[in-house]
Amino acid sequence: NKCLTCLRTNALTIATVAGVVLGAVLGIILRQTKDEWTERQIMYIGYVGAVFLQMLKSLILPLIVASLVSAIASLDLSLSGKIAARAIAYYLTTTFAAVVLGIVLVVTIKPGAGQSDLESSSSEDTRNTTTVDTLLDLVKNMFPPNLVEACIFQYRTNLVASDENETDIYKFSIETETVQTTNILGLVVASAVVGIAIAQLGDETRTIANIFHNLMALMMKITTWVITLSPVGIMFLVAAEVLEMENIGSVMSSLGMYFATVCIGLLIQGLVVLPLLYVALTRKNPITFVSHLGQAIATAFGTASSSATLPVTIRCLEDKIGVDRRVARFALPIGATINMDGTALYEAVAAIFIAQVRNVSLDFGKLVAISITATAASIGAAGIPQAGLVTMVMVLDTVGLPSEDVSLILAVDWLLDRFRTAINVMGDAFGAAIVDHRSQKELKELTPATPRNSVEEN
Ligand code: ASP
Repeated sequence: NKCLTCLRTNALTIATVAGVVLGAVLGIILRQTKDEWTERQIMYIGYVGAVFLQMLKSLILPLIVASLVSAIASLDLSLSGKIAARAIAYYLTTTFAAVVLGIVLVVTIKPGAGQSDLESSSSEDTRNTTTVDTLLDLVKNMFPPNLVEACIFQYRTNLVASDENETDIYKFSIETETVQTTNILGLVVASAVVGIAIAQLGDETRTIANIFHNLMALMMKITTWVITLSPVGIMFLVAAEVLEMENIGSVMSSLGMYFATVCIGLLIQGLVVLPLLYVALTRKNPITFVSHLGQAIATAFGTASSSATLPVTIRCLEDKIGVDRRVARFALPIGATINMDGTALYEAVAAIFIAQVRNVSLDFGKLVAISITATAASIGAAGIPQAGLVTMVMVLDTVGLPSEDVSLILAVDWLLDRFRTAINVMGDAFGAAIVDHRSQKELKELTPATPRNSVEEN
């Protein structure tokens, strides 16, 4: 009977995880007959997943703005300061721990030794972005001059791979492309500022505070609907990806060690480092915690985007784990934007792997420089697919390697991206739960004064 109740309450999570597995199986089966498929037919397979992804994406912007403004507005300012300080201390320490873990692994395993036959494209890349430029850009983007524009028109340069030479999978040419994306970091900062102003003005801005509280309630309702569709959406997302991927066998033979090094690091971070920290700081059971997070982890894997997963992460933490709303809605949007343990670890491993392939020796000072830039690169990466690959140019620059060398690892990046995104989301979730636990005393004192519970749905 207990089993049945457990199944019923976790039905959606189980279905979503099953969606990932079924999607992979479906993709593998369809691959067998891929030659007989027209491009249009392949597009149809991905279509359902694409629609689901668009639905999730449509939630991101209003959700981030509403959740940050309403959470900060309903907290006492000194308390939001304390929560922010705790969250940031957690983000920085865990990200840095991930980077150090990655460096130790890649230096010990040496996946790049003896891989000198790997070739990268030698297209004349005209960009000379330096680390300083990237950092300056990052800070500048935190203060968008026009909020409407920040929602729609943030242009940034992306690396695109065009697979010109079909016989050699490593010969990609890297071109730069201008893409449209949302300046999420800028919007996070702007929302925080608005929230602080509302909190300071108090009664004077009650109406506008309530508008944001209501908007949040609305977004959470719609989120529930969209999440219901996730098993099917994620199944098709994964199936299409598997169907379209390069021939995984030949890629793995030379990139296998690199791939394994990143995966081992991610597993240690997600299954050892973060859970131990959680136990140490909260004395709660990390296994129950991770099992309640299944839905979010599966969505992160299916979408390869922390931002697209954010609505699901918030739902998991509030409904299943019982984290205080004010903390979840404050820490999770910020975490999804700047806290990326998996990406940080991957950036460090990938840069050192490339240096090993290129026979560039790295002294201790260089390793320290990599650890710092990899942390910064993970903070700068947006929570969208393969953003880490783009900010890695900055880490490569520190070691004196050209940006085209990212093409060395491109072939497996789409898959690694999914694994690291899952760890990114786990890092955010553990962080919110830890901060919540450590802030219990202050939150209790605050409860009578908070207006939000009266206006929100349950
Ligand atoms: N896809 C990752 C995320 O959304 C970022 C990255 O590492 O590319 O968290």
